Amino acid sequence: DTIGRNLDRAVAAHPDRDALVDVPSGRRWTYAQFGAAVDELARGLLARGVLKGDRVGIWAVNCPEWVLVQYATARIGAVMVNINPAYRAHELEFVLKQAGVSILIASTGHKGSDYRALVRQVRERCPELRETVFIGDHGWDALTAGAAAITVEQLDARQAELSCDDPVNIQYTSGTTGFPKGATLSHHNILNNGFWVGETVGYTEQDRVCLPVPFYHCFGMVMGNLGATSHGACIVIPAPSFDPVATLHAVERERCTSLYGVPTMFIAELNLADFATYDLSSLRTGIMAGSPCPAEVMKRVVAEMHMAEVSICYGMTETSPVSTQTRRDDDLERRTGTVGRVLPHIEVKVVDPVSGVTLPRGEPGELCTRGYSVMLGYWDEPEKTAEVIDPGRWMHTGDLAVLREDDYVQIVGRIKDMIIRGGENVYPREIEEFLYAHPKIADVQVVGVPDERYGEEVLACVILRDPGDVLTLEELRAYCHDRLAHYKTPTRLRILDAFPMTVSGKVRKIELREGYGGGAG
Ligand code: ATP
Ligand code: MG
Repeated sequence: DTIGRNLDRAVAAHPDRDALVDVPSGRRWTYAQFGAAVDELARGLLARGVLKGDRVGIWAVNCPEWVLVQYATARIGAVMVNINPAYRAHELEFVLKQAGVSILIASTGHKGSDYRALVRQVRERCPELRETVFIGDHGWDALTAGAAAITVEQLDARQAELSCDDPVNIQYTSGTTGFPKGATLSHHNILNNGFWVGETVGYTEQDRVCLPVPFYHCFGMVMGNLGATSHGACIVIPAPSFDPVATLHAVERERCTSLYGVPTMFIAELNLADFATYDLSSLRTGIMAGSPCPAEVMKRVVAEMHMAEVSICYGMTETSPVSTQTRRDDDLERRTGTVGRVLPHIEVKVVDPVSGVTLPRGEPGELCTRGYSVMLGYWDEPEKTAEVIDPGRWMHTGDLAVLREDDYVQIVGRIKDMIIRGGENVYPREIEEFLYAHPKIADVQVVGVPDERYGEEVLACVILRDPGDVLTLEELRAYCHDRLAHYKTPTRLRILDAFPMTVSGKVRKIELREGYGGGAG
């Protein structure tokens, strides 16, 4: 169905339950209030002449208006374009032009960057951009005030024109491996995916979902927002952008039942000095996704955060995003060693990345997925689309995976991240898992760096638990000795304070490789 009609049903079913809570400002909306606010904004956009298929950009960190824009644009058949809050002028210009954005809705700034000034810089070069509306400004008030000019019948008439296969969203990939690509997604793609993710963790209107993950990314807007509203659950915004203290505070204060995060977010929360003082007893479940989830972290999340049913998801922006997910009753082995089973109505296969031949279960190869969740295509880039979606509609993920006998999928790593050292394939994930158990190591990323003798060598980039501590390469190698194959043992070590991250919270391994000057130790 369309996202608008799905929301109507949630409003009719439980008008008085909470739909959205913004902890920093204390603002909250019941489903009835949320539905009314979405309709007001939708009518305001209609009054501005937004046509079906027009692109409306949203440029802000997490805030309630972001969520209203998501549902209001869907309600009127516009295509929302998620713009990365970290973007500067040239990237903003690229997205506005590439997606042909006609109305931009933006906050006034983020982390020292002034969005008004940035918009002024690029406006002239973006001829399709008619208007920019700043949230929390008289521009936003004027937009919603414009609703008065449009009747409910006019809004309903627009909604009746929409099909679930219409594009509703252009979402850019994280840019972990290169320049982000704009995945065009339909109502059918993302509403179904949000629904199935929520169904798998068992959401009902009793659930309250804490979302420290960015709305800008599919993790927040699909698995979070759509996952919640398609089951009548409540969206809780702990802070504009990730903050471990604000997150745990929001869980405690709003009695959240579910908490989302990429692994590094959970690591930051667990490592807070006052972690034990937060009351997390309301938590039941949550989702950890986006990058490999270390077993050590998972064990602590289950044991120390009350998230006995926490779920791992695997997916990518191009597939709405989730393809596989662990189930509520999966044991720790499945929850730490796999990314779960394929969701209903999605198919997976593992192929030889070179020949494309389907491999037997148990053999590593490129994971391909097919089903309702595969994007319509990259926006305005048919050649790039054809590189990843084959004529049989299989999406080639670029990830190496193993499909086990029990139907559970294991992600071995990205094809692009695989290290080839002296002819041996080395999977960084395996070494990272091993090093996480080291008592001095808080977080670790392993990448391949060029080496004259072996082609590539194994570099471990480490964040220490105690920044005042020392860890030498010899010490690290002694730890690996006898327990890790010689060719997998890191020969280079870098101690860092933090990793270069994407806004969606992923480590940009590409920068760790590029930023490495070489030399042992
Ligand atoms: P880009 O395509 O721009 O380089 P990206 O692939 O990181 O960036 P996303 O679509 O946000 O952009 O992320 C999808 C990728 O994240 C997957 O292809 C996979 O490599 C990784 N990933 C997602 N979930 C998991 C998981 N549970 N375990 C391991 N890797 C995961
Ligand atoms: Mg990708």
